[in-house]
Amino acid sequence: MARPIVIGLEVHLQLNTKTKLFCSCSTDYIGRTPNTNVCPICLAVPGTLPLLNDSAVALASRMGIGLRCKIQNYSTFGRKNYFYADLAKAYQITQYELPVATGGYLEIEVNGETKVVRLHHLHLEEDAGKLVHPTTDGRLTGAAYSLVDYNRGGVPLTEVVSEPDMSSPAEAKEYVSRLRQLARYLDVSDGEMESGSLRVDANISLSKPDGSLGTRVEIKNMNSFKSIERALEYEISRQNKVLDSGGRIVQETRLWDDAEGVTRSMRNKETASDYRYYPEMDLAPVVIDDSEIEDFRRRMPELPWEKRERFAAFGLTKEEISILTEQRELARYYEDVVSAGAPPARAANWVRMEVLRVLNELGIDITGFKVKPGALAELVKKVEAKELSNTLGKEILDVLAREDISLADAVKRSGASAGRLTGASLDEIIKKIVSANPDVVETIKNGEDKKGGKIKFLQGLVMKEARGQADPKEAAESLAKNLDL
Ligand code: ADP
Ligand code: MG
Ligand code: ZN
Repeated sequence: MARPIVIGLEVHLQLNTKTKLFCSCSTDYIGRTPNTNVCPICLAVPGTLPLLNDSAVALASRMGIGLRCKIQNYSTFGRKNYFYADLAKAYQITQYELPVATGGYLEIEVNGETKVVRLHHLHLEEDAGKLVHPTTDGRLTGAAYSLVDYNRGGVPLTEVVSEPDMSSPAEAKEYVSRLRQLARYLDVSDGEMESGSLRVDANISLSKPDGSLGTRVEIKNMNSFKSIERALEYEISRQNKVLDSGGRIVQETRLWDDAEGVTRSMRNKETASDYRYYPEMDLAPVVIDDSEIEDFRRRMPELPWEKRERFAAFGLTKEEISILTEQRELARYYEDVVSAGAPPARAANWVRMEVLRVLNELGIDITGFKVKPGALAELVKKVEAKELSNTLGKEILDVLAREDISLADAVKRSGASAGRLTGASLDEIIKKIVSANPDVVETIKNGEDKKGGKIKFLQGLVMKEARGQADPKEAAESLAKNLDL
């Protein structure tokens, strides 16, 4: 019998602050010269004192509100001691006993079913620096030393700790995806896994036959959604094999090796006592009074699920809604197209199919898209009014997205107004050809046009009748539609 899977996730999000958690160094460390965003505080020079960054508290609270946590009026920092070169102080300042937010939940949807994942808490902590291993030609030299870069040391993180409520890798992936979406909607974090502003530690166990929880293993080092799923799949089968052969699971931390597709034991799981947690006496408790919490609440933007609900009123399908609301900026673009007068359902189709296609081709996101919502709305309306064919409309969108040209000029250049036959006039020609050739039509409809010669013949007649002013692809499509093919 299959053993039930139990997964709980710890997700670290780098908070969108300008400066570090306890000093005024910049948080912009990507691509910087090592050890240039540092100061005596984040380098732990004796005699310096940390000073808490209020914006980090505000952002963590905002995330907590989005996750329906209870924001605590009183929370504290502690020291988590471990000796490793990436940690200048040899301890990390983190919230431990009293975190800034507790409880809460996040809803996920897998295979059409909604599931509630409860949260344990959300806390603030500082990031560590990075070890840099010397390389030649991109390969480890096996040098007897490592270098350390403290630019990231002290950057504010919030860690969201779930209850062990997920029961498949797909649910875990969906959970991280919803969490990232929320963080982005709230401007709390950019949530980029590749650059490390979203990092996931996954805890996974297989339950015993009596239903009680099994021993869990923690997996680290996954840096994509795909690798979260793969690492968990791998770990499920590894644990099953160990248990099947009568072995036991050891509680440990394992690292995911993406190239090999395996997890490897890194170290036995530390317990709280290994870290010798104790209160951070250099920092006062974080006090957030009720009026401040109210203030955070008032300033909350629209949340992803609120937006989804509102979009349902446009009469869109569930799938359309989920694609259009995935990214806040795309949702805004769509709404602007609708406010500019495009019918909601048509606009949804255009944004979802055509705009996303063009963005993909250009390798940009909606914030860099040249076509203003008003122009797209005009274009959609022209296609709706059959002033332009669908095909021509798409071609014009391609032009608008790539060149600095107005909609009117793009339409003119496309030949639509220079006698190019589209929509209604093309339809008329097709009807004429179809009724003039009943035998050929009959053959095609009976499925006897195996080599496609007859349909080509009709296409040729249509093009001839249109005197070369129809788009061949569009003519072929309209003809097929007319013949119910
Ligand atoms: P620690 O303090 O050692 O990090 P926690 O009790 O805080 O341990 O749990 C860390 C994470 O592990 C949480 O997300 C929790 O949901 C998850 N977890 C706890 N027990 C299990 C288990 N038996 N199987 C899977 N995940 C678990
Ligand atoms: Mg933990
Ligand atoms: Zn600093």
